[in-house]
Amino acid sequence: MIWRRVVIKLSGEALMGGATHGLDAWTLQRIAADLVAAAQLGFEVAVVVGGGNFFRGMAGAETGIERARADSIGMLATVMNALALEYAIEKRGHPARALSAVPMPTLCEAYSRQTALHHLAKRRIVVLAGGTGNPFFTTDTGAALRAAELSCDVILKATQVDGVYSADPKKDPTAVRYERLTHDEAIAGNLAVMDTAAFALARENKIPILVFSIKEPGAICAALEGRGRATLVEPGPE
Ligand code: UDP
Repeated sequence: MIWRRVVIKLSGEALMGGATHGLDAWTLQRIAADLVAAAQLGFEVAVVVGGGNFFRGMAGAETGIERARADSIGMLATVMNALALEYAIEKRGHPARALSAVPMPTLCEAYSRQTALHHLAKRRIVVLAGGTGNPFFTTDTGAALRAAELSCDVILKATQVDGVYSADPKKDPTAVRYERLTHDEAIAGNLAVMDTAAFALARENKIPILVFSIKEPGAICAALEGRGRATLVEPGPE
């Protein structure tokens, strides 16, 4: 096993299934089963959940809510997803802990690096809510930040496509999928892997990013075990 401790970034969209909004019970169970299987393989699993299936700050700001406040609503959306995912994991018989970067002591534990490391050492799946805990950021940046501070070996970025392409594969039939890339090649090619702040953090801290599709059952374990289609973005030679 090349990786031991991993951060998995799950967007709100990944939890939506075929719906247009909110949570899909079957999808939640499928992803929880995959996360439990990953933990049973021996990986220490931290999950950063998004909130876009409920609310995104940018969209809120467009409707006239001040941005910082809209982002607060977005962070609350991530807590809803984290609580649902924590429950789905525990229902499968595996311990999980939701930790929120925005303290909500009556709902879940507050995030601290020490608490997260403690739960990971106990083999609990840690579900990280609230992103960075600050407005003007995204949960992609939250994932990169947590990966750096929890000394994770890789960020698994779950998306709707099976890797990084030279162009949008939905629009351009000649688009090619990359198997491996360096962080610098991704920047030079203007390839959007994660948002800019998240990518900069990952690059600076030399954290590889594995981009894969979450659509198929078992996708997380397949990605962790090097099966399936994905793009690995890794630090280049010094
Ligand atoms: N958010 C925030 N700070 C963070 C992370 C998230 O303010 O550190 C807010 C922001 O409004 C964002 C929303 O929470 O739009 C949901 O997160 P995100 O858009 O990253 O979710 P995803 O697209 O992954 O579902």
